[in-house]
Amino acid sequence: MAATISKIIQALEPSATLAMAAKAREMKTAGKKVYDFSVGEPDFTTPQHICDAAAKAMADGHTHYTASGGIAELRSAVAKAYQQTHGLEYGPQQVVVSNGAKHSLHNAFTCLCDPGDEVIIPAPYWVSYAELVKLTGAKPVIVPTEESNNFKLTPAQLRAACTSKTKILLLCSPSNPTGSMYTPDDLGALADVVLEKNLLVISDEIYERLVYGDNKFVSFATVRPGLAERTVTINGVSKAYAMTGWRIGWTLSPLNIAKAMDSLQSQETSNPSSISQYAALAAVSGPQQCVGDMLKEFAKRREYVQGRLAKLPKVTCPEMGGAFYAFFNVQAHLGRTYGGVQVNNSADWCLQLLAQQGVATVMGSAFGAEGYARLSFATSLDVLEKGFDGIEAFLKS
Ligand code: PMP
Ligand code: GLU
Repeated sequence: MAATISKIIQALEPSATLAMAAKAREMKTAGKKVYDFSVGEPDFTTPQHICDAAAKAMADGHTHYTASGGIAELRSAVAKAYQQTHGLEYGPQQVVVSNGAKHSLHNAFTCLCDPGDEVIIPAPYWVSYAELVKLTGAKPVIVPTEESNNFKLTPAQLRAACTSKTKILLLCSPSNPTGSMYTPDDLGALADVVLEKNLLVISDEIYERLVYGDNKFVSFATVRPGLAERTVTINGVSKAYAMTGWRIGWTLSPLNIAKAMDSLQSQETSNPSSISQYAALAAVSGPQQCVGDMLKEFAKRREYVQGRLAKLPKVTCPEMGGAFYAFFNVQAHLGRTYGGVQVNNSADWCLQLLAQQGVATVMGSAFGAEGYARLSFATSLDVLEKGFDGIEAFLKS
């Protein structure tokens, strides 16, 4: 007899980014040439001094359970870094270290949402937000944004989406999947609505360090007085330090929320890997040159990607302010056949692009924006060049 899966998990969509990455991997294993722009993870190896710190942690015997919310040194180092960078005062107890920022998000939603609560999520949104909200029994309220406004939520859209049940606004800047960034003024204007409507904010700032040109990152909690008391900031080492596999993320939040998340985590996962925590400590408190070096490479790739996208016929894409994604509009290319196969939506388009040219992207529909595709440019220029040749050939076919 096949077991019945719980209703809440039956309703869960698997991660589309990871599903596309798995498909690309499968094709590679089968010996096919694949240009993989699906998953968003830096192709660089973790900087040596961070790996050394992990080896030292093992040699020093840091191979046991730690405090559930993370080792004191890392919690203090994160708090200190926020004080220095953003002028935000957090005590170490307000930092909860988890198994990646995805886990931090899960903790935050689980500790804050009751069934029936509403969480406002501007679309396009990263694939996991809505699903993590649904797991709590709360309702994701998706608010579509405009490409012409660089996919930014406006204060009027936020106000219009609020009901008596609205509890949380989710923000992600720089954005996955669009690379769009709110200016300090944009954030201030949204913050005014947040304060007026008495909302909490989960601010996903994992791409904080990956910002291009004149764009300026500011942490949401700093843009108006009183925001730190209603904001859970999400961050981690995955993107800035090329540490996706180490699984370390964290939250900065009011103490009562931190205590709740710590307690949840103590029952759920005990603690994040002790060795990874020491590696993250070296990342946060060690030399930061490596972040700048990787950013320089990402900046070259971004420029290249913008140049190639601009040359694609009837494809549009706003300039990316941060992160390492391009979210481009392929609406003009839907509703026709490619190599004899009818392509009607972004999922068909991405799947046929992969099947026919070996180029892996992720369909906009997975991010709540039909008619678009996401390309991660956290890959080498050489792979990007061949991938774009494949996209060009596909559009001509
Ligand atoms: N937030 C955003 C916007 C992301 O793109 C990612 C990357 N998967 C995460 C959170 C989670 O990062 P991780 O769990 O690897 O720390
Ligand atoms: N953030 C990355 C992405 O969106 C990693 C994959 C994931 O965790 O979804 O592709």
